[in-house]
Amino acid sequence: MQGTTSTSGGVPAFHVHPGHAFEGFELVDRPNTTPILVARCQCGDVLDVAEARFATCPECDGRGCARCGDTGRIVDHAALEWRVAPSNP
Ligand SMILES: [Zn+2]
Ligand SMILES: [Zn+2]
Repeated sequence: MQGTTSTSGGVPAFHVHPGHAFEGFELVDRPNTTPILVARCQCGDVLDVAEARFATCPECDGRGCARCGDTGRIVDHAALEWRVAPSNP
């Protein structure tokens, strides 16, 4: 299938393998590197990656709450720029 990437709700369609389910997002935040978000397939493969962008948590104004996991920040999904993960590095 090809064509335009339709976005609804700010989350693009990820390149999930045919017949596989979309597993979810994972934040990879290591020291001295830019935090990235990865979109994972059911089988464990990384589908797409995006530089993580954060917004101040609207629920607690940065003090920490259940929504942001006491970090005071949430992933700003609208600001993410997803790209296909480099395969076979
Ligand atoms: Zn898969
Ligand atoms: Zn919060």
